[in-house]
Formats: sequence, C-alpha cells, structure tokens
Amino acid sequence: MVLAHNLGFPRMGDKRELKWALEGYWKGQLSQEELIKVGNELQNLHWKRQKEGGLDLIPVGDFSWYDHVLDMSVLLGVIPPRFGHTGGNVDLNTYFRMARGRSIQGKEAAACEMTKWFNTNYHYIVPEFQSQQIFSLSSNILFERVTAAQELGMPMKPVLLGPLSFLWLGKVKGDAFDKLSLLEGLLPAYSQVLQQLKTQGVEWVQIDEPILVLDLPPDWKAAFKKAYDYLANSGLKCLLTTYFGALGDNTQLACQLPTAGLHIDLTSAPEQLIKVLDGLPSDKILSVGIVDGRNIWRNDLEASLQQLETVHKRLGDRLWVAPSCSLLHCPMDLTLELGLDKELKSWLAFAVQKIEEVVALKQALTKGREAVAATLKASAAAQASRRQSNRTHRPEVRTRIASVNEKLAQRCHDYSTRAQAQREYLKLPLYPTTTIGSFPQTANIRKARQEFKKGQISAQEYDEQMKAEIQKAIREQEKYGLDVLVHGEAERNDMVEYFGEQLEGFAFTQNGWVQSYGSRCVKPPIIYGDVARAQPMTVEWIRYAQSLTDKWVKGMLTGPVTILQWSFVRDDQSRADTCLQIALALRDEVLDLEQAGIKIIQIDEPAFREGLPLRRLEWKQYLDWAVRCFQVSAAGVEDETQIHTHMCYSEFNDIIEAIAALDADVITIETSRSDGELLAAFAAFNYPNEIGPGVYDIHSPSLPTVNQIVGLIKKATQYIPPERLWINPDCGLKTRDWPEVESALCTMVAAAQKLRA
Ligand code: GLN
Ligand code: ZN
Repeated sequence: MVLAHNLGFPRMGDKRELKWALEGYWKGQLSQEELIKVGNELQNLHWKRQKEGGLDLIPVGDFSWYDHVLDMSVLLGVIPPRFGHTGGNVDLNTYFRMARGRSIQGKEAAACEMTKWFNTNYHYIVPEFQSQQIFSLSSNILFERVTAAQELGMPMKPVLLGPLSFLWLGKVKGDAFDKLSLLEGLLPAYSQVLQQLKTQGVEWVQIDEPILVLDLPPDWKAAFKKAYDYLANSGLKCLLTTYFGALGDNTQLACQLPTAGLHIDLTSAPEQLIKVLDGLPSDKILSVGIVDGRNIWRNDLEASLQQLETVHKRLGDRLWVAPSCSLLHCPMDLTLELGLDKELKSWLAFAVQKIEEVVALKQALTKGREAVAATLKASAAAQASRRQSNRTHRPEVRTRIASVNEKLAQRCHDYSTRAQAQREYLKLPLYPTTTIGSFPQTANIRKARQEFKKGQISAQEYDEQMKAEIQKAIREQEKYGLDVLVHGEAERNDMVEYFGEQLEGFAFTQNGWVQSYGSRCVKPPIIYGDVARAQPMTVEWIRYAQSLTDKWVKGMLTGPVTILQWSFVRDDQSRADTCLQIALALRDEVLDLEQAGIKIIQIDEPAFREGLPLRRLEWKQYLDWAVRCFQVSAAGVEDETQIHTHMCYSEFNDIIEAIAALDADVITIETSRSDGELLAAFAAFNYPNEIGPGVYDIHSPSLPTVNQIVGLIKKATQYIPPERLWINPDCGLKTRDWPEVESALCTMVAAAQKLRA
C-alpha cells in the first residue's frame, strides 16, 4: 500500500509552550514534573494531529528537550567527562548542562559546542568523542516515547540519527584520531537500540543519514556498507532517509544498502529521481519527499501528482509519500495567522498544512483524483493567483533587473586608487578604531518598541526615544575616543526584520516561529514578491547621528545575501534573482546615504558563508551570484566613499577569493576565537584591502586588556601592513551592557594609541 508518512514535526507548540516551559524550568519557576508534563502533552498533541491528519506512519523520537543530536549522544552514552557522569541513565539536568553549561542542578561546566545543522538555521549540539570512546546505552527516553505512542494507538516509526551521520557531525576531543575508527564500537550500541525497539513490537524504524548528500571521502562511503550490513539483521524494517540535496555520487551506495526503504528529497533535488529509480533494488520501498519541509509555500499538488504518478507506475505499492525533510524547519500552523492578507495566506502551508498535502497526494494516487477534487482545485487556484498576482510581479523591478550589467557591479576605480582618495578625504589616523554597529539593546529600548507596536506611544514619541538613544551612543563613543562612530541600531529589532518591514515584497507572520537552537526560535520574514524600496530606510537615523558629531558616522545596512539567507524565500524564481532585487534596493539606500553626507557605509554579510551549497561542485555558482549581489549593492558610490563589510563566523579559508572579490574597502571579521589562524589565511592569499580583525570577543564574558589587544594587532602586522589594519570588536555589542562596552572600547582605544606611539 502507498503510505503517507512524516519525518519529523515541529517541537515548540502553537504558542511556543515548550520554550516557555524550558525557560521557566531553567529559572527555577517550574518543577521538573511540570516541565515533563508540558513536553509530554505537546508530544501527544502533535502525534494526535498527525494521525488525525491522515498519516499512516508518525515519527516518534523527533521531539526533543533541546536537540535531537544531543538526544543521540545521550542515548549512546557519549557524555564528555567534564559533566561528571558516572554511568546509568543520564538525567535531565546533565542533559541541559551539556547543552547550556548549566542547569538547575549540578556543577557548571563548559557547554558543548553548537553548530549549524547542514545548511539550515537550526543548530545542533556537537557530539564530543574521546579516543577510546565507550558507547553504552544511557537513556530510556526513546523507548518510553515508543511505549507512550503505542498506548495511544499511534501508527508510528521511531526516528534515529544514523551512525555515520552521528560520527560525521561530532568532533574529536583531546589527542587527534580518526573518528571513523569509532564505528566498530558504535555499531553494537546501535544494534542494541534496534533490538530493544524490536522487543517493543516496532516494525519500521527511520534512520536519518543526511550526510549521504555530501561529498564523502572513500573510507566513509565504504563504512556505510559495513555499518548497514551489521545492522541488517535487527529484524526491523529500516527506512534510510536522506534530505537537503541530491544523493549524487552516493546514489548507488544508498540504493544498495540493505535497508527496506530509502527516502529522497525531491524538492531540493528533483533531478535525482530517475537515477534513484534506476538504481533501486526491486524489493525496496522508495519514500518520495515531495512537499517542501523547509519552506512555507503551498504545494502545487497537480505538479507533484504528475511526478508521483510516474513513480507509482514503476513502483506500485513500493511508493511512499512524505515531506522532503523533517518539518522542524517550518512553522507550525497557518490557521493561527489571523493578520496575514487573505491572498498571500492562500499561497502558504505550514507544518500542519503540509501533512494535509502529503495525505491528499497519497489519496489521489490510491483513490483517484476525484477523491480529493476540492483540495486539488484549491491548490491549483492558489498557484494561479500566485503566478498572476501583481504582488509577485512588478514590471519596474523586472525591467531594472534585466538591465544589470558588469558595470553596475564595479566601483569606478580599483582599491589602491580608492584608498588614496579615502585617505585624503576621510583623514583617519593609523589603526582607526570603530565598532560593528549595534550598542546595547537595553530593556528601555525594547519597552519603547513594544509600546509603539501596541499603539501605546505615538510614532513621534518613539522617534524621540530612539533619537535620545542615538545621542547617548554618540556621546559615549566620543567619550571613549573612537575614530569612526556608529548610531548604535537602537531602532532595529532585528537586522533582517528591520529592512524587510520597510521593503515591498516581504511579509511577516505572528506565529511563524522556527526553532533555532534549544528554546530559541526565529520568525523569518517571507519574501513573496518582487522586492522594491518604497523610501529610504535608514537615512534619517544616520543623518541625525552624523549631525551630532564632527567624527565620521558609519552608515549601517544588512547585505542582500544575509537578508535572503535569513528569510523564507519565494520558490517561483531563482534565489539569485531574488537576491539581486534586494541588492538593487540596497544600492539605492547606499546612494541615498552617500548623498546625505555619509561617507563610510557598512554592508553586513554575516550569513554570506552559510549560504554555501552542501556540495563543492555547486560552490562556484553560488559564490558568483552572491558576490555579484554584494557588489551591485555597494559599487555605486564615489571613490572617496568607503564601503565596509562585516562577517562573524570564521572559516573563510576556503572562500577567501570570493571575499576579496566583494571588493569592500574594509572588512571586519571575527578572529579572537580562531587565534590568528584566519589572519594567516588572509595573508597567504595576499588579501588586498583593509581588515579589522576583531580584538574583543563579544561572546565571552571576559574583557580584553590593552596588552592583549596590542599583542593581537602586532601579530596581525606580521601578515597585513599597518596602514591596512583597523581595530574593532568582533561583532555587534547589542547583547552586552554599557559598563562592559565602555571598559572594552576604552581599552581598545588605549591599545590603538599605544600602537600608534
Ligand atoms: N551591525 C550588526 C550589529 O552590530 C552586525 C550583526 C552581526 O554581525 N550579526 O549588530
Ligand atoms: Zn558579527
């Protein structure tokens, strides 16, 4: 029988109940029983919703108190020694200490590292492996969840992260060794998990191996065969799931592994279908991920159905239908959005709606189109309205995009000519000091914004309060003796939302939360239509700041790639095209700032690197358009106007050419945590423009000393000539408080003076 199933469901709840419960527990306001009660209720509710939605198999074990990779570490007993675990089952407080460094009970210890889950904005807790790592089952949670689901009569399949992906995503601690060598010891533990599930009466288990869509070294490929041969005799039927891209050169490997089923993601890589069908053994089930689990667009059911029908013809009942990946990356329920425009809303689907789509597709396949005629009709109508709407297509934007040429992407002269002009015009000292943009977002600022949003204070009152904040920021910076000042970004709730709210083509939800890490959620804007700038977005604030001082004030913008990267992006044209539209809107803003006398303008691109495709072969194409979009936004200015950019997360070594190609006059980067390694990369490449290596790690509670900064900069001069060095923190200061900021920045200025002397 064709089955409709799901790979994973959002965890937080309609109103982010899990977030509030977790944070309440961490603050000691909620007991552990109360927390567990909230979690279990959510879990049951989510199961119920999926079952009532008509799914044939529901994932169990996708719910997590913090993160599913951490769940795996705990299940397998991978607990770093510093947490003092002495065997037996890991309790919830140890679990939270691993995630956050502390909990309501137990000694504080350095939290485990957290990093991005593939190319999503979800962050997982990195497993830490010691040499001689022992794996031994240390949690019952998964098994208890299975029992709970069974008691509720849920048709279910437990979900596990597969052994190879688990190893791949982890990190070796202590003496270096090849983590793949741990597989031998890891497999018996997995086997035990499967055995236990088997005893519980489980039939199907979902094993996620998303690394099968990456470029894998030969020994890792070989290890797949070994691992799955080993696990094959568990007696369970295993659905091996892959997502976020094409299997590519791993297609044969994935098809041939001894598992009962294989899941592929057709939304991110539709082209892989034929190859997979050709390689699929005649007894294997193919689960087709056809509803996009990572975006919020309503599925074009007719188009999907046509694709599925060709598969159905070949596979018959061996076809399963599913979302492309776990719905973890998508908001919960569209029906909660009461404020969205009706037409726009008809184009969207959140997790709950996506389940309905999967089920409708299955029904159309098994019972015929008539069985779901109304659903198909509504989907077709939504597609038509989206295609024809003048909200998605603005002729003037289209004309402008078509006219973009190489010239628009190039500054008038090369860096050395510009640098000369800028030196004469800006007259900055050697080792100029500056900051990355934001100053502390105090409770006062947030309160004013809340009151303004609720209509409790007028726009004028809000403006005045923000101006007072800007004034304070300027006065403080003058007091510290910084060279290039910023207005402090008090008026910005979020660096993407602030721009999205003012650009045409963006929409915002009320409840469209997506888990970012632990209890933290983000609410990405939706880019649904052609992007255009109705009026200047930042000019008044920056102009005001500049009017208060004789020093230069640096204008502050979020770059096109970052705006794209941190939004839900329309899927009816290429990301490159959408990005270029944003770039053009920003270009106008840059020129307006320049017109207003702002001669230093920073275009932040913290998300530039995270947009890199998972496969190296696709890097060039991405970098080409991403670089070009940045250039288009920046290149319109005169020689003497100085363009800055900022990126936080290091790991630039392999994209350094693209970073140089941005041709920003100055780049400020995070270096304090990478111990100068990054600077060496800039030096090895002979990075031609100016660099501000971050000398103050704003994520660390400790403040730098003059000597530390002097030392860091002296080290930097080994690589980069002094006249091309800036001195600045490594990121924005919005999460710090004023006393810390004052101390750190005064230290920075003192270090600059010492260096100049
Ligand atoms: N200008 C932004 C700020 O200072 C940059 C933030 C970022 O790099 N993520 O807050
Ligand atoms: Zn930053």
